[in-house]
Amino acid sequence: MILSSFLVIWNTVGDSREEPSALAIGLALALAFFLLIVVPIIGLAQSIGKLPPRKIKPRYKLFLAEIPLYRHLDPKAKQRFEKRVQYFINQKQFIPRSRGLVIDDRKKALIAGTAVELTFGFTRFNFDHFQRILIYRDNYYSKISQQYHQGEVNIRGLIVLSWTNFEKGNADREDGINLGVHEIAHALKLENKIINRNHSFIQPKDYKDFQMAYKSFIDGYGNAHGFLRDYAKTNIHEFFAVCCENFIERPKEFQSKVPALYRLMVRILRQDPAAIY
Ligand SMILES: [Zn+2]
Repeated sequence: MILSSFLVIWNTVGDSREEPSALAIGLALALAFFLLIVVPIIGLAQSIGKLPPRKIKPRYKLFLAEIPLYRHLDPKAKQRFEKRVQYFINQKQFIPRSRGLVIDDRKKALIAGTAVELTFGFTRFNFDHFQRILIYRDNYYSKISQQYHQGEVNIRGLIVLSWTNFEKGNADREDGINLGVHEIAHALKLENKIINRNHSFIQPKDYKDFQMAYKSFIDGYGNAHGFLRDYAKTNIHEFFAVCCENFIERPKEFQSKVPALYRLMVRILRQDPAAIY
């Protein structure tokens, strides 16, 4: 039906006594192919979570107001944020690891929201390597390190979080300590190394500057002391994670107290939260 009407319109515009040209037939077939084959496939892929969804489900959107960056975005950027949250939720498996722990919509929305918040500067970013998110109720014992942990990221593609500590991090959004941002930052830095469509998004020059910033920090130079907590000295991975926590939680303070490092983080993460909130 669509194909024949298109041909009729084409003929009315041209000379109705002539046969439709090869171009007209080609265009009509392309249009029919798009409408009858491509559009339904996109719809199906969106519904089963293989492609970015057109919009967020209201039951998740409800909780995004808890995320500072989201609250400060304009309506268009808010929509982009929402779609990315829904895509993250569609793509990942959320697995409870404590008896009786329920993974409700709020948990999913806030974890996905944290991942989108940290990577909102990138055009497309969905932590392809990390497919499973394990959630414990509280600190958990690791048989490997023989210690209690609050969270970790595993190269096998796991992000592990303890919910009490995740909530604690969000309860004070100005102290530069946020477990969710911290673990997501570890995942982000690993994604940069792993060869997939997300790798090498940190420019080599920026990473070199970051290595130098870390060296100055552990050598006691610069003004990051007293602003970043001492845990950032552990190694460059922890330094990156702690920088991300401060970048997200107190960007204005970060910018005024350690301007050079803040500017470098803006280049690495391609966003400038101090300019937004
Ligand atoms: Zn860490």
